[in-house]
Amino acid sequence: MEKPETIEKQLCPMCNTNNLVMVQEEIEIPFFGKTFVFSMTCSNCKYHVADVEAAEQKEPVKQTIEISSEDDMKIRVVKSSQATVKIPHVTTITPGPASNGYITNIEGILRRIRYQIETVANDAEDKDEKKKARKLMKKLNKVMWGDEKLKITIEDPSGNSAIISDKTQTSKLKTK
Ligand SMILES: [Zn+2]
Repeated sequence: MEKPETIEKQLCPMCNTNNLVMVQEEIEIPFFGKTFVFSMTCSNCKYHVADVEAAEQKEPVKQTIEISSEDDMKIRVVKSSQATVKIPHVTTITPGPASNGYITNIEGILRRIRYQIETVANDAEDKDEKKKARKLMKKLNKVMWGDEKLKITIEDPSGNSAIISDKTQTSKLKTK
């Protein structure tokens, strides 16, 4: 692995101050290959973008995994900004300008989702909406403890995403 390359004091496109730090790193991910991880973070306005890109050109991909134990929390996940992460009956993470790419594990994905649902639960004025959000949080906790199964699908037309496990089912992603 090479050392992360850091370029400091760059011009931030959001607040126009020279507080942007760019970081690029090259990581070897088993069963996925050499991957570039890059990010831009502004210490002044908190602007942050990050993404991952495989060194080799990849095919559009659709991968599904069924989470069934606490051990599954450690399964590595590469999620690019182009990825759609679908968890039936829970949520869908869609690509877009606000979507970052990152390398995490199943637990990391679930924690992010739980945080979003928690925000909804706290902000919701509608009682039913609050109740529904609380129920989802309970469900996610159970999944994290290995007490409940959950299916996660990741679709990425750029191919720069993967769920790295023997249990992962890969199929062709149909692109329009
Ligand atoms: Zn800024």
